[in-house]
Amino acid sequence: MQDQDIPREFFSFETDAPFERCIECNKYLLDEGTEYLVEKAIKNYEGYKAQDVIFDFAICMDCMHERSKEISQESALKIAEYFEKNIDPEKRLILHERNSESALGKCMIKGTDINACSEYQICGYFKGRKMSEHNPPYLISGEVMEELMPLLSEQTIDEMNGFFNKHFSPDPSFFEPTPKLIFV
Ligand SMILES: [Zn+2]
Repeated sequence: MQDQDIPREFFSFETDAPFERCIECNKYLLDEGTEYLVEKAIKNYEGYKAQDVIFDFAICMDCMHERSKEISQESALKIAEYFEKNIDPEKRLILHERNSESALGKCMIKGTDINACSEYQICGYFKGRKMSEHNPPYLISGEVMEELMPLLSEQTIDEMNGFFNKHFSPDPSFFEPTPKLIFV
């Protein structure tokens, strides 16, 4: 099976082209075989076609592993449990479809259609200019993020806030009531 090109959904909002650099260490990402992850948070406006990209970034695997050390084991376990408990087999199938369009059309946990989500995050794994065939992209609705936040330890939330403050200029609406979860 041929690796898929990077879908436009995962392009940088700023450049409308694939991300070129890791947000943490500035490593060049588009060389063949360089593994990285792209994450994007989007706000939909009901009744309008307009969308806001709340944030988007690419992060290399090394930096991602560094970050995940900062997430407490307790939180990591709770997140894993939540996914295990809430994902239903039918949606798991969608998740394993190689077709990124179907995986990105609805929330992987709730099954909510992308157009019905007021907020959502998408996440995808890439190797250079190709999408990873082992880790299909997924979409998480704002509803799921709200359910996950209370499960996290203070240490984990501090880490997420730290990462956010370091890389993004604070948008007041985004920080109310709490910063949103960044899945890494
Ligand atoms: Zn990096």
